[in-house]
Amino acid sequence: SEKILEVNDLRKYFNMGRNTSLKAVNDVTFHVNKGETFGLVGESGCGKSTIGRTIMGLYEKTAGDVIFNGENVHDMDGKDRFKFYRKMQMIFQDPYASLNPRSTVKEVISEPMEVHGLYKNKKEQLDRVYQLLEEVGLNRDHANRYPHEFSGGQRQRIGIARALALDPDFIIADEPISALDVSVQAQVVNLLKELQEEKGLTFLFIAHDLSMVKQISDRIGVMYLGNMVELTSSASLYEKPLHPYTQALLSAIPIPDPDIEDNRERIILEGELPSPINPPSGCVFRTRCPMAMEVCATKKPKWLEQEKDHYVACHLYDDTLNDRERESVSNK
Ligand code: SF4
Ligand code: MG
Repeated sequence: SEKILEVNDLRKYFNMGRNTSLKAVNDVTFHVNKGETFGLVGESGCGKSTIGRTIMGLYEKTAGDVIFNGENVHDMDGKDRFKFYRKMQMIFQDPYASLNPRSTVKEVISEPMEVHGLYKNKKEQLDRVYQLLEEVGLNRDHANRYPHEFSGGQRQRIGIARALALDPDFIIADEPISALDVSVQAQVVNLLKELQEEKGLTFLFIAHDLSMVKQISDRIGVMYLGNMVELTSSASLYEKPLHPYTQALLSAIPIPDPDIEDNRERIILEGELPSPINPPSGCVFRTRCPMAMEVCATKKPKWLEQEKDHYVACHLYDDTLNDRERESVSNK
């Protein structure tokens, strides 16, 4: 399959003054295939939104590269960057906050078309707005109303219509359903799936909830404290999670089928998420890892392809360690 996006050793640190920095994203590497949904999952504060914004070029990178369709996003000049935004768009968690409350739905959706000068003819532009409203399950009667007149799910549909206005290839969806009622979440997910099929869209789907990401993603990257700790297909992640953090996240998801006896052991993570300003040495997960060993405090785990297309950053899978390094430690 053809790669549409490559993220290579991407690093994003925010300068906090006094020689401190917030290490939001630490040398993260992954790619997204054309037409797939790549899920990026992790607790809030793990850096997943920062990755999305850095891919878009909304944040300057600290190091590494973002390659979209063979072009380095952060090397683009203003003109190329502007053209690039036609191909990559973003939808956000809170559709209300991302929509101007004083603009009608019609204005909200046509704004990007105007900025990019897509239509010379107002009538054509309006027809396109109507068409987009229908594509997202709304209708033309909604065009002259204001965002506050709509429910959360409808507002997210407006946000999606706006993101589609420039006919992009790639959409970064940053927690697009997290703020919605459970009953509405599935509808929005289904809409995104339908649109993906119709238009051949590629999605980077960011979420904190693994059960949500599972339904929609082809492949999944698990983030913890600015680091990617595991990466594989949705199926192998659920069948055979390798990283202790992924195992803990999965153990917290109830089995949906009531006929299947749930006799799995819950893995409860002790302790709090450390600060990305002062992350633990060695493996960033070690302060909460039930499997932590001596080596975990001193060496950063390598990014290992443990099975085909199944990557993990954890010393448990590193065959080159000696016995002393393998001694377990208590982190209580
Ligand atoms: Fe746990 Fe060590 Fe693996 Fe980190 S490297 S996840 S601390 S066992
Ligand atoms: Mg976020």
